[in-house]
Amino acid sequence: MDKVYIPDIENAPQQTIVVDVDEFLPKLISLTAVQGQITLVHQGNYLQVSSQAKTIVTLNCDRCLQQYNHRLAVDASEMIWLSTEVPETTEPGLEVEVTLDEPVETLSPRGSFSPEDWLYQQLSLQLPHRQLCDQYCEGLLQEVEKIEQPVDRRWAALESLKEQMQGH
Ligand SMILES: [Zn+2]
Repeated sequence: MDKVYIPDIENAPQQTIVVDVDEFLPKLISLTAVQGQITLVHQGNYLQVSSQAKTIVTLNCDRCLQQYNHRLAVDASEMIWLSTEVPETTEPGLEVEVTLDEPVETLSPRGSFSPEDWLYQQLSLQLPHRQLCDQYCEGLLQEVEKIEQPVDRRWAALESLKEQMQGH
């Protein structure tokens, strides 16, 4: 996915550029290509970025540790401020370095916008904190039962002993 030069958005009809997406993102391991659209609207002092996109990723279940497929969908809209305080000439990609700790919020009006990094960030935000193959997955429950079983047997033995003593 090519970067978009911000002045090109300003000069586009209705100051709008629509980026069609139908590809795998290098940083996101997904089962299917990411499909959707990113709309960039130049609003003078800010860039309005919105996107509808979807893909399917393979995750590991926190409970049973099995892999499962999860549908990721993005329906996001964000304002990115355009400020000359951001250095205009930086190394390619530096001004749009995306980490989850420091989301892109300000770009130079003469810089460029990376739809790929932005979309990757949005998709990453949609990843579930708790990854379960099924909300009723009993992977963990079965493990707990295995651990508790010896204890249960001891209690059962104690109960039957009690019954025997009461019987006398
Ligand atoms: Zn599971």
